[in-house]
Amino acid sequence: MFIGHFGVGFGLKRLAPRASLGLLIAATVWADILWTAFLLLGWEHARVSVGDTRWSPLELYDYPWSHSLLFLMLWGTALALVYRSYRSDWWGAVAVWIGVVSHWVLDWLTHRPDMPLYPNSTKYGVGLWNSIPGTLIVELPLFVGGVWLYARCTRARDRAGRWGFWSYVALLLFVYVSDHFSAPPGNMREVATTGLVATAVMLGWAWWFDRHREAIRPGPAARP
Ligand SMILES: [Zn+2]
Repeated sequence: MFIGHFGVGFGLKRLAPRASLGLLIAATVWADILWTAFLLLGWEHARVSVGDTRWSPLELYDYPWSHSLLFLMLWGTALALVYRSYRSDWWGAVAVWIGVVSHWVLDWLTHRPDMPLYPNSTKYGVGLWNSIPGTLIVELPLFVGGVWLYARCTRARDRAGRWGFWSYVALLLFVYVSDHFSAPPGNMREVATTGLVATAVMLGWAWWFDRHREAIRPGPAARP
């Protein structure tokens, strides 16, 4: 799953209007941030294998620390506690936890059975990536729904808030489609490095335009 994770990040703004969108998306892609870092460090492993599923050319055979359900719950709890320790925003902390753990559920839907519950456990996965329509039917509405929630519960304060947001959405859709039609990557080092750099840019960008927007529908945290 790719843009579906971003969709969940956008949607979580409805639950936690005081948390930055950059933080909420960082939570939903946290597993992949760790994964790219751990690949470069040699702690986790994957290989390029064209045809592994119809959607993805990557064989994801060893990622217990970034992608097991147990570790995502631990990472989610740690990140939520860190956030809560410097901001008195309980809903933000809850949203961070949900975001981190949601990654497992969405990857479980799309990956073939390669998602562990805990290190060395049996692996699970519904395998939507074996079907192009199946992938699109689940992932696109998830993304569009999240963007729609975000657009309804925030308002642009200036041009940066409006165009920064919509160009971000357009770029994600473009990358999602073009990635599928471009040649498979040469090696995992290339995948991990471009992944890390691209994620850093996308998180900074989301943080930036989110600061140029304001919440208009109070989420549960803002009610008296
Ligand atoms: Zn993932």
